[in-house]
Amino acid sequence: MATRMVDLRSDTVTLPSMEMREAISKAEVGDDVYGEDPTVNRLEREAAMLVGKEAALFVPSGTMGNLVAVLTHTSRGNAVILDPESHIFYYEAGGASLVGGVQFWPVENLHSPEGLQSFKSALRPDNIHFAPAKLLCLENTHNRRGGTVLKPEEQAALYESAREAGLSVHLDGARIFNAAIALNCPVTALTRSCDSVMFSLSKGLGAPAGSILAGSASFIQLARRYRKILGGGMRQSGILAAAGLIALKHIPYLAADHRRALRLAEGLNRLPGLKISPFPPPTNIIIIDIEDTGLPSVEFLSILQSYGVKAVSFGVNLVRMVTHRDINDNDIDWTLKAVEKICLLKKRV
Ligand SMILES: *Cc1c(COP(=O)(O)O)cnc(C)c1O
Repeated sequence: MATRMVDLRSDTVTLPSMEMREAISKAEVGDDVYGEDPTVNRLEREAAMLVGKEAALFVPSGTMGNLVAVLTHTSRGNAVILDPESHIFYYEAGGASLVGGVQFWPVENLHSPEGLQSFKSALRPDNIHFAPAKLLCLENTHNRRGGTVLKPEEQAALYESAREAGLSVHLDGARIFNAAIALNCPVTALTRSCDSVMFSLSKGLGAPAGSILAGSASFIQLARRYRKILGGGMRQSGILAAAGLIALKHIPYLAADHRRALRLAEGLNRLPGLKISPFPPPTNIIIIDIEDTGLPSVEFLSILQSYGVKAVSFGVNLVRMVTHRDINDNDIDWTLKAVEKICLLKKRV
């Protein structure tokens, strides 16, 4: 068995730093359901300012932030347009359909330079046969599409077009700061092209839990009610918000995760049987096509784990690796050595 374990399954595995633990121990708290937790209030103020919105809401998870957003923007029987590979459609257990009674309306190529065309051709006229589309959800960076980014002008075009058609726009920005860093633009260049945005404190930014939902003051007022309905009113949650405030200070360090992802991808790309797509990786997510190794991803991953590296399957022939705060340069070397050993194994029959 390996003497050490490098965990590249996700940037959610990041552990709270000592600085966070100290901030948690000193946090001033109160009952947040009464609006009386000063640390939560401060986090919500700072987060709103950071993304250029009037107000923000601290939520336990990104999944709840997205669900609250959909509930706040829509009514039962509405349609929500989104990418079929989006997190809201693919990974959130159909929550908005179950709880909100909305119909998901997946549109191919939404998250691409042809996104505007795809969106426009998906729109249908006002007719009793059709669920009226009231919300467009975008994702930036895009998880299942390998941490790819939508450019400010692409997002702006989609936003304008959606508004013209009477739709609101929610941005699933779990990794929006990774997008801003990769695009070398202020985050507000992206968040200005949406009515609401969710971003994660618990991924690359390293907080133990929590996400932010931001939007107009009236949007957040209603969102606060939906958070309560879903059981997300958390009382002395300043304990978590204290770590969230430190997490906001970690934003510039995401650039180091991108540099390490690039080095890892370059090394992997040189190994026989592996294809990295997209290459180079735009942010901190690497998708590896392992088909030519002759191993299905589940088997590949179990051998990899025995060599001291954890990653996740993204399909029969696809493996995902994510760099994050708790991965250093030695971990990248260790990972490359482990994967190389697998690639040099004889092809199975
Ligand atoms: C992780 C993720 C979420 C959900 O966040 P959780 O805190 O895990 O619920 C939503 N959207 C995207 C794009 C994500 O990567």
